[in-house]
Amino acid sequence: MTSQAAKFDYDLITIGAGSGGVRASRLAGKYGARVAVIEESRYGGTCVMRGCVPKKLLVMGSHFAQHFEDAIGYGWNVAGVSHDWGAMIAAKDKELNRLEGIYQRLLRDSGVTLIDGRGVLSDPHTVEVNGKRLTAEKILVAVGGWPVIPEFPGREHVISSNEALDLPKRPQRVVIVGGGYIAVEFAGIFNALGSEVTLIIRSGQILRGFDHDVSATVAEEIEKTGIKIRRDCRIRSVEKHSDGYSVMFDLGDECIADCVMYATGRAPNTAKLGLKEVGVKLNDKGAVAVDEWNRSSVESVFAVGDVTDRINLTPVAINEGRVFAETFFNKNKMTLDYANVASAVFSQPPVGVVGLSEEEARKKHKVRIFLARFKPMKHTLSGRDERTMMKLVVDKATDRVLGCHMVGEDAPEIIQGLAVALKAGATKAQFDATVGIHPTAAEEFVTMRDPVPEKEE
Ligand code: NDP
Repeated sequence: MTSQAAKFDYDLITIGAGSGGVRASRLAGKYGARVAVIEESRYGGTCVMRGCVPKKLLVMGSHFAQHFEDAIGYGWNVAGVSHDWGAMIAAKDKELNRLEGIYQRLLRDSGVTLIDGRGVLSDPHTVEVNGKRLTAEKILVAVGGWPVIPEFPGREHVISSNEALDLPKRPQRVVIVGGGYIAVEFAGIFNALGSEVTLIIRSGQILRGFDHDVSATVAEEIEKTGIKIRRDCRIRSVEKHSDGYSVMFDLGDECIADCVMYATGRAPNTAKLGLKEVGVKLNDKGAVAVDEWNRSSVESVFAVGDVTDRINLTPVAINEGRVFAETFFNKNKMTLDYANVASAVFSQPPVGVVGLSEEEARKKHKVRIFLARFKPMKHTLSGRDERTMMKLVVDKATDRVLGCHMVGEDAPEIIQGLAVALKAGATKAQFDATVGIHPTAAEEFVTMRDPVPEKEE
C-alpha cells in the first residue's frame, strides 16, 4: 500500500459489479489492494443478469423447436412435444441466482468488500453510499448502460429487453422495434417458440454496421423462419386495449400486439452519479470520456465497460478491467488493443464476425472478396430451407485477411477460432495452406479458392 493510499479508506472503490467492475476489483484485490465494490442491483451486471447470459439461455431454449422439426427428417417421431415458458424462465432464474452467488464469492475470495447500495461521487476521492462517505485513492466507474426508449404517446405500455427476459407468459403477437443485436436476438427467441413476430425498422436494413452480406443474409433467413420485417417504418403511438396493444404506424395503419418491445439502443448510466459535479467530462453521448489508461478527466477517477461507450461487449469490459488493474495495482502497464474484436449476434441462424466488413475495408484497401453460400449438410435430410453464408475480406496488396464473416449454425464458435488467426495477421495463403476438417461447415473458410469477380477492376 502506498503512503498516499493510507490516507484513504480504500485503495480502490468500484461503482458497479458488472463484468468490467468485477474483473478490475478481483484482480486489484488479488494484488493486495484494499478494494470495495458498490452495487445497487445484482452482482454480475448487465451481461449476467439482464443480457448475454439469460438471453443466450432463452436462445438455446427456443432453438429446440427447430431441433425437433429437423429431427423428423432423420426418422424421429416428435409428436406431442410442447414448451412451458414458465418452466424455462424459472430454470433461467435459478441459474442466474447461482451465478450471482459465484460472483459474490469470487469477489470476497479476493478480499473485496461488497457494499449494497447506490454510490454517488461527492469529490474526486469520495463516494457516498447509504448515507456514509467512503474515500479511496482511485475510483472506478463501471456502471454500464441502460436501454433507451424514445418518447412517444404510449411509451408507458412498451417493454425493453430487461422485462422481456422475465415475462410471466409468452406473448403470442410481438412487435419489436429496432433492428440491432437485441431486436434480432429476441425476435428469434419469440418466433422459434411460436409467437408471431414483427420487427419494425426505421431504415431498409437490419444489423446496420455489419457487412452488407451479413445483414442481407440474416434478413433473408429470419424472414424465411416467419419473422416479418417492416422496413422504413416508425411507430406513432401505442394504446392499450382489452385485447392487447394497438400499435399505430406513421403511414396511418395499425396492428394489434400482446407485447411491444423496444430495442433501440442503450445509453451509458452516467446520470445522478455526481460525475459532472466532480469534474468528470462526459462525451456527447453521455459516456465517461477516458484515455487509453481508462482514466477520466479527473486524475483519480477511472471508467471501464459500457459506461465509456467504446466497444460495448462483455469481453471488452472484462479486458478493460484487467488492464486497469494490471497497470495500477500490479505495476504492469497495459492497454487494450481494440482491433479485431470478434462479436456474435445470437439470431437464428447466428452471426459471427471478426475484423473489417467489406465496406470498411474498401475505405482503406483494395480487396479481394471470397464468398460461399451453401445448404448445411444437416439440412439435406431435415429439409429446412436454411443457407449458410461465409465471407473473407482480403487485402489485395498484402494478402492479409482483414475480415471473416459468417451467418449459419455455430458461426460464433467458428469465428472465435478465426479471430486468433486474424490477431496473428494470417494471410489468405495461410488460410489456403490450412487443411480442413471434413465434413464441417468451418472447412469452407480454408477452401474458398476463387474471389468474387470485381466489376470495376
Ligand atoms: P443497437 O445499437 O445494436 O441497435 C439499435 C437499433 O435500434 C438499430 O436498428 C437502430 O436503427 C434502431 N433505433 C435506434 N433509435 C431508434 C428510434 N428512435 N426509433 C426506431 N429505431 C431506432 O442496439 P441494441 O439495443 O440492439 O444493443 C445495444 C448494444 O448492446 C449493442 O450495440 C451491443 O454493443 C450490445 N449487445 C451485444 C450483443 C452481442 O454481442 N451478441 C447482444 C445484445 C447487445 P438504425 O440502424 O436505423 O440506426
